[in-house]
Amino acid sequence: MLKIYDPITKVLREFEPIDPEKVGIYGCGPTVYNYVHLGNLRAYVFVDLLKRYLKYSGYDVRHVMNITDVDDKTIKGRREAGESLKVFTERYLAGFLEDLEKMNIELPDVMPKATDHIEEMVSLIETLEEKGYAYRADGSVYFRIAKFPDYGELVGLEKQQLKENADGRLNDADEYGKEDAKDFVLWKGYREEDGDVYWETRIGKGRPGWHIECSAMAMKYLGESFDIHCGGIDLMFPHHVNEIAQSEAATGKKFVNYWMHNAHVIVDGQKMSKSLGNFYTLRDIMEKGHDPLLLRIMLLKTHYRNVFDFGLDGFEEVRTIADRFVQFMLSIDNVTNIEYNEVDIDALIAEYRGNVIDALDDDLNISAAFASLFDLMNEINKYMDVLNTEQAKNVKMFMLEIDEVLGFVGELFDRYRFELTKRIEAADADALVHQRAIARKEGDYAKSDEIRDVLAKHGLVVDDTKQGPIIKLK
Ligand SMILES: [Zn+2]
Repeated sequence: MLKIYDPITKVLREFEPIDPEKVGIYGCGPTVYNYVHLGNLRAYVFVDLLKRYLKYSGYDVRHVMNITDVDDKTIKGRREAGESLKVFTERYLAGFLEDLEKMNIELPDVMPKATDHIEEMVSLIETLEEKGYAYRADGSVYFRIAKFPDYGELVGLEKQQLKENADGRLNDADEYGKEDAKDFVLWKGYREEDGDVYWETRIGKGRPGWHIECSAMAMKYLGESFDIHCGGIDLMFPHHVNEIAQSEAATGKKFVNYWMHNAHVIVDGQKMSKSLGNFYTLRDIMEKGHDPLLLRIMLLKTHYRNVFDFGLDGFEEVRTIADRFVQFMLSIDNVTNIEYNEVDIDALIAEYRGNVIDALDDDLNISAAFASLFDLMNEINKYMDVLNTEQAKNVKMFMLEIDEVLGFVGELFDRYRFELTKRIEAADADALVHQRAIARKEGDYAKSDEIRDVLAKHGLVVDDTKQGPIIKLK
């Protein structure tokens, strides 16, 4: 059974969804004013792993991710670009979707945009007003923290700390109408610099605050109470704390049963920032010649609660990992033996499947899951010479089964095979390998070497195994 780290009690808790067959997940999505950076990508890879694993475990998962397409940054960006808010944000939304696809991150089931849910946010704010949790000041609407005693429980902040934090992080010169410095904005009254970005609503002319967006959309698509809410650790306070306050104040029900936060990304041991010149988007990484799927492995293999220290030299290690999987799949695919043997491959698979599940059940202990898979590959490699086609098929099926969770093995192997097939055809390599076998049998090593050189020119190499010659990419 899956156990999830609980940030409030700081221990692992068994995961029990509200509906035993279904799981609702909400993950905070991108603000579409720029291409997403490594820190964001880490959060999406983490949710992808969680979601894939829950599906693998048999749950019917509904995953919702919001798109923030109106806020200070998008308004500023579109003004600088001289574009409408829609044209400006759609460009970065398209870029975001491309990034997800390149990294083999499954699309969320619902991706609601803030601008399509103004009515839901307005009515949520009205409810908060009716219950005395919200008040108007200078055309804006604020949440009254003093009325919500459990405020900040998620981060375990004492009231005094909270005030200091709030002063530091929520400092906004325009929010001078607040009753209390800790109060946060639900609805931002119209200001001239907003230009044509505003909605005329029952609570006034303006636009929604960022926090209310997630509460409104999460509850619309997952219900007033749902199972798991994810996001980067930097969103824990004030964003998630505020989401809880707004939602629970409005419904009187528990908003989220499990909170999961992925840790930060740093670069070469330092904070990632544009001013330090170590700020990466997926595009930056690809321009340096790196494969988005290798970045996926890199992000995946660090436990979500550990800080991930990114460095470009890390691609070398990840390439080795990718190669191990691909070479293993290739060997399995090249098994031709049909003779019976005593090896109990099914028992081996069952044992390692159990190990991988135990690892992932332990708060997604991905390192242990990878370690089990490497052990399995080592174990099976020992029997590779005698393995028969039926056993090989089962091993391959198991690898692809686990890849439903990992999301890179099948894709990397398909790519490898595509390239290999192309070169084999171009070189007529099958015929060459056949001639090579004859030459070797006849002791004609000059001929055999000549063929090897021709294959090498096509980027191919032959590996002689007990299962016969395997043609590989050089
Ligand atoms: Zn959010």
